[in-house]
Amino acid sequence: MSDDAFRPEARVPRGFADKRARELAAERSIVAAVSAVYERYGFEALDTPAFEFADALGKFLPDSDRPNEGVFALQDDDEQWLALRYDLTAPLARFAAQNWETLPKPFRRYAFGPVWRNEKPGPGRYREFIQCDADTVGSARPEADAEVIAMVAEGLEATGLERGDYLIKISSRRLLDALLDGMRIEGQGQRLAVLRAIDKLDRVGIPGVVELLGPGRLDASGDFTKGAGLETPLIMDLADFLAAPQGEIWPTLERIGGKYGAGDGISAGFGDLDRIVETLRRMGVGEDRARLDPSIVRGLEYYTGAVFEADLLLETTNEAGELIRFGSVGGGGRYDDLVARFTGERVPATGFSFGVSRLAAALRAARRSVIPEARGPVVVIAFDQAAMGDYMAMASELRAAGIPAEVYLGSSGMRAQMKYADRRLSPAAVIAGSDELAAGTVTIKDLDLGRELAKGIDDNAAWRAERPGQLTVPRGELVATVRRIVEG
Ligand code: AMP
Repeated sequence: MSDDAFRPEARVPRGFADKRARELAAERSIVAAVSAVYERYGFEALDTPAFEFADALGKFLPDSDRPNEGVFALQDDDEQWLALRYDLTAPLARFAAQNWETLPKPFRRYAFGPVWRNEKPGPGRYREFIQCDADTVGSARPEADAEVIAMVAEGLEATGLERGDYLIKISSRRLLDALLDGMRIEGQGQRLAVLRAIDKLDRVGIPGVVELLGPGRLDASGDFTKGAGLETPLIMDLADFLAAPQGEIWPTLERIGGKYGAGDGISAGFGDLDRIVETLRRMGVGEDRARLDPSIVRGLEYYTGAVFEADLLLETTNEAGELIRFGSVGGGGRYDDLVARFTGERVPATGFSFGVSRLAAALRAARRSVIPEARGPVVVIAFDQAAMGDYMAMASELRAAGIPAEVYLGSSGMRAQMKYADRRLSPAAVIAGSDELAAGTVTIKDLDLGRELAKGIDDNAAWRAERPGQLTVPRGELVATVRRIVEG
């Protein structure tokens, strides 16, 4: 390659991340734990493609107020626009509409996988992240909503959280819809701007929401988000409602609703929620796990009834010990019109989405990760070039016995190979030089024990003489010896 060859800088785009073994293990264990709960409730697995036709996804994204914001889209060679899915719900609606005739109804499916959002990245906000969802399509019963909430509580506990570590907040879009109707906030765009402003409450606080309900807000990075442009008296009433303490939320909402003639709509919204809460109590899910909180709205436009949000109550800190706020680790609700976009026929549906990537990051920050350190394989040291065949055979035997193993395949010497095994967090190294091979033996080093014992020996010569954690056994006992070490 000539010197002036173009050399790209090795880097990843903002909001995207490489994930190493530990993070992958954390995400996978969350997906596995949550999926097991979903299956226990009778949901079947479904996978749909990363790309959908852009028109199938619709314009439902939160935060699409930035230029080029929303979905990642491209034009196919037949001129049709494709877009990467931004959640797992819109593809489900497409799938249900396409296969409605033949599906068992209600259709209950769970799904997990990456989704992509072309939005502004921040702490806990990525442009590619994993979600894990369950939805019931074809049931209008509040019991379907209650069941989703109960599953979320169980799912959170299956990931290692305890009672009191989390809270699922429940509300209904119908409450806010009634109030906004009463306030004559009727334009699609303005209404959405109001919903999104309220949805940002946990991130920007009441003052931030007030700015977003009004002319707009300049954030710390200098980006301006255009506001909903409401008149001041309306903003003050909405802020009053959002600022009401837990015990006063309902009376506040009723008082403000009454002022705008929205009392009946608000009572109807209440009715649905009462049924959901009553069912939850019968299912053994109490106030400590899930309760009503009308300040939550969820940012997605497609919700039509009950909405849910899962929040962590744990204190989360970064490496520097600073407090970090993660926002919700999951959200969901009822979206009765999403299938009708395709078929014209209303199909009631409800579901929930765990933000797996965010939940994994939050559990790590809260030091609640149940993931053990990712252990490396047993390393067979490449001691003698002529014996590579023997080493490969040893690794095969170990693998056949279910023990992860590899032969060191680099070109470094013995000391570097031991360091390699150490860095991989290998439980053991297998060493067989020509002497051992001739004598029909192998030497196995228990690396955990070696690390432990080495702490007590500071003299180099003594260490070499004692060779802590090292033993030589007949070749035939390789697998049994390694197994004892690995399992011990
Ligand atoms: P939504 O599909 O917007 O209702 O979000 C459901 C869950 O996905 C949220 O509660 C978050 O945990 C997670 N989530 C949403 N947006 C992001 C993002 N940009 N980065 C990481 N997680 C996200």
